[in-house]
Amino acid sequence: MTKVHNWQLGREMEYPYEAAFPKRQFAFVFNINRCIGCQTCSMACKSTWTFSRGQEHMWWNNVETKPYGGYPRNWDSKLLAMLDGIDPGGQRWKSGEGASGDDAEERKAPYGEYAGRTIFETPNDRPDPTGPARVLGYLPDDDDWDAPNMHEDVARSRAKKGVWGGAAQLPEHDNWFFYLQRICNHCSYPGCLAACPRQAIYKRPEDGVVLIDQERCRGYRKCVAACPYKKSLYRPTTRTSEKCIACYPRLEGKDPVITPDGAPIETRCMTACVGKIRMQGLVKVADDGTWERDPENPIYYLVHEEKVALPIYPQFGTQPNGFYIPPRWVPRAYLQQMFGPGVGDAIDRYALPSRRLLGLLQLFRVARKVIFRFEIEEGKKIGESTVTMSDGTTKTQAVYDDVAIGYDGNGKEMARVGVREQQFERPSEHVNSI
Ligand code: SF4
Ligand code: SF4
Repeated sequence: MTKVHNWQLGREMEYPYEAAFPKRQFAFVFNINRCIGCQTCSMACKSTWTFSRGQEHMWWNNVETKPYGGYPRNWDSKLLAMLDGIDPGGQRWKSGEGASGDDAEERKAPYGEYAGRTIFETPNDRPDPTGPARVLGYLPDDDDWDAPNMHEDVARSRAKKGVWGGAAQLPEHDNWFFYLQRICNHCSYPGCLAACPRQAIYKRPEDGVVLIDQERCRGYRKCVAACPYKKSLYRPTTRTSEKCIACYPRLEGKDPVITPDGAPIETRCMTACVGKIRMQGLVKVADDGTWERDPENPIYYLVHEEKVALPIYPQFGTQPNGFYIPPRWVPRAYLQQMFGPGVGDAIDRYALPSRRLLGLLQLFRVARKVIFRFEIEEGKKIGESTVTMSDGTTKTQAVYDDVAIGYDGNGKEMARVGVREQQFERPSEHVNSI
């Protein structure tokens, strides 16, 4: 094992290989608050990549209902329990904020320091000799892959005994569930890659996309066991493992039909999203693996400037490149386990967004192209609304007639959206048309 710096943990950690970073990294932000659970993303992916024999159980993109849903079944609670078994109570953070005031230092430890162990730091203590040698993990049973959307829309209740229902009021609802959208996180320290005895898994230097070389793979399923997010899947008809490929032909911008002007476009799941919850991007990576400062890049801005989008289960240690705006109504303890200590602040920043953030939120899913840069044109004040904060207090949100503008990989304007929603009043003689 060598030592690598994991900025999401704010510390060095053990990893089987030397750190090697891409020039740019595929990354995405999902706004959980907006998802309607329609599964259009799941079907867009499936109908593109996994519609063949042996791929029936493969949902490279899935949307599961939390807290009870999961695909494969209980993927996260099983691994969290394994981590706890090795280091009881170890999943804790030394401080909630990494704020040092220094921008470069801040990017090395934006959430404070993780005090527990990762999936790479436990094998020597692990009692089970049948698991992967380098990474803590487990191989799901066949049954676990049977029901991709078990427990859909099933809520957890905190209602008191004998009281029917419960309050659906912010800051935390008594009955709650939320949709969790999941694809491969194209991790910076992938568990799948670390565990593969054939070195069949690699991370592309140009965009950080993690791929499995189908020629080298022998189907040992070490990657299936080692991926903490269970996003590497075994295909029995070919006896190889397969995974999300980040729709790299779209990302490369080299396809004469789908990207004729050379500007990268978003993945199938992103472009199909009905709820406009998804934004994908490419962020610049510095030599030390942190993200280069680039506040005009939407993903950088959401993750590092506003810190409104947080990595999923950062304590696993893979430094995932999938980030989530946490749901406002869900009990914080649950969210903190899933997204780390920045949850409370992220929710408050989302509830009472800055003008720049409110503008950027309008640019989610407005076009197929990847947005490389955005700017805001400021307009006049058009109203106010009352917002409930995390601690239950209320504040006033001023709303401005601002316009958000997105630019593609060629630097060309590709989208222009106002904060004020467009409205059309139908003339009375045409009640059913505009
Ligand atoms: S999410 Fe899993 S499959 Fe994807 S790169 Fe990370 S460890 Fe590998
Ligand atoms: S398409 Fe968008 S809104 Fe629909 S389930 Fe997928 S992420 Fe949610």
